[in-house]
Amino acid sequence: MTDQTNFDIAVIGGGIHGAGVAQAAAAAGFATVVIEKSHWAAGTSSKSSKLIHGGLRYLQQRQFRLVRESLRERNILCTIAPHLVALNRFYIPVYRDSRYRPWQLRLGLSLYTLLGGLQKEHRFFRVPKSEWSSLSQISTENLQAVYCFQDAQTDDRKLTEAVIQSAASLGAHLLCPARLESAESTGQGYKLSVGEPGRQRTLHARVLVNAAGPWVNLVAEQLSPQPPMPAIDLVQGTHLVLDRQLSQSCFYLESPEDGRAVFVLPWHGRTLLGTTETRFEGSPDQVAPLPDEERYLLNVLQTWFPAFATQPEAQVVERMAGLRVLPDSDGRPFARSREVNLVTDDRARPAYIAIYGGKLTGYRATAEKVIALARKNLGPGKSGLDTAGIRLPDPSG
Ligand SMILES: Cc1cc2nc3c(=O)[nH]c(=O)nc-3n(C[C@H](O)[C@H](O)[C@H](O)COP(=O)(O)OP(=O)(O)OC[C@H]3O[C@@H](n4cnc5c(N)ncnc54)[C@H](O)[C@@H]3O)c2cc1C
Repeated sequence: MTDQTNFDIAVIGGGIHGAGVAQAAAAAGFATVVIEKSHWAAGTSSKSSKLIHGGLRYLQQRQFRLVRESLRERNILCTIAPHLVALNRFYIPVYRDSRYRPWQLRLGLSLYTLLGGLQKEHRFFRVPKSEWSSLSQISTENLQAVYCFQDAQTDDRKLTEAVIQSAASLGAHLLCPARLESAESTGQGYKLSVGEPGRQRTLHARVLVNAAGPWVNLVAEQLSPQPPMPAIDLVQGTHLVLDRQLSQSCFYLESPEDGRAVFVLPWHGRTLLGTTETRFEGSPDQVAPLPDEERYLLNVLQTWFPAFATQPEAQVVERMAGLRVLPDSDGRPFARSREVNLVTDDRARPAYIAIYGGKLTGYRATAEKVIALARKNLGPGKSGLDTAGIRLPDPSG
């Protein structure tokens, strides 16, 4: 709670991006407020695959810059939040009908290791055939090779909460639950109208950061005058949680239906299975897992882990759906860029900065880019703390 009404930076949205920007803004010494309508990580930031990764599959689309930056961020997060971000083994089986041949995978993994900085602990290897039987009864019919590499897992909701706590400890003001209802340009920034349970607030901010994830264009529509609003597609991704843990390691599989990558991951003693890519229309508040997505995901499990999938204890106990924000296009969602797009009202002196897309993994780098843009308007800020060196708190501690 705060009675302060004048801020340098107001951040709309308390997902990982809003939390990251609030932390970076406070670390730079700017008077900061972050406004979240439901609860921290209420949107996509609690419905991701919970991976802190470079994204091996983005190599296929030649998104080398994104992969390199993400791997650098993975290394930073493993250092500043070892209680929240930890490396794990990922196994990739290659079957006779798999999309990629073993040599292609070896090439991709070599490049991935190279972009990650060639550290010894990130080296990959081919699992000897004699060890396949230890891989949670994975189907060995037509299995040609299994590769193992390292990437990191997190708890996305806890990570977001930790970044919010860090922002607050650096001096950011938190308003939650509180909804941005409208904002009007004053020439020196924005006058914001914010609704809280039982009260209405007026705040002023010199820079407004729209970090509303899939709601980004709905928030932009509440601004006057209306800022630039790129056309976007919302693409739904569903995950299932199964009651039993398949393995302590992660599996990177191909869907037998369309060859898409699907992860099977350990998750708090259970198994997380995902994800899908389904075009979404409507209000982001209404996103929900679909029966056909559940069937698609269970088919992956039944194909590659038939013994596990048929166990009565391996039941679905939770379903969740999140929304990706992708550039508008007719192409397959899978093939579209996952790079973040920062949209401003004025590149030279922005009073409005909106975050389109991006990844959980890159939140800190994205936040630093947002603050670099905000500095063009606000000046350097009263302090110069680098978020790469700020250890994140334990949100449950
Ligand atoms: C299925 C799926 C799997 C993914 N897996 C991964 C992964 O494994 N690794 C990875 O790096 N990335 C992953 N991503 C991407 C990553 O999850 C997202 O990029 C990230 O969570 C987006 O965070 P955000 O803060 O932009 O949006 P959100 O988390 O959606 O936050 C937006 C917030 O804004 C709030 N809000 C909206 N309107 C208002 C308003 N008017 N006033 C106040 N608050 C408002 C909402 O309540 C919400 O909390 C995945 C994405 C999806 C969809």
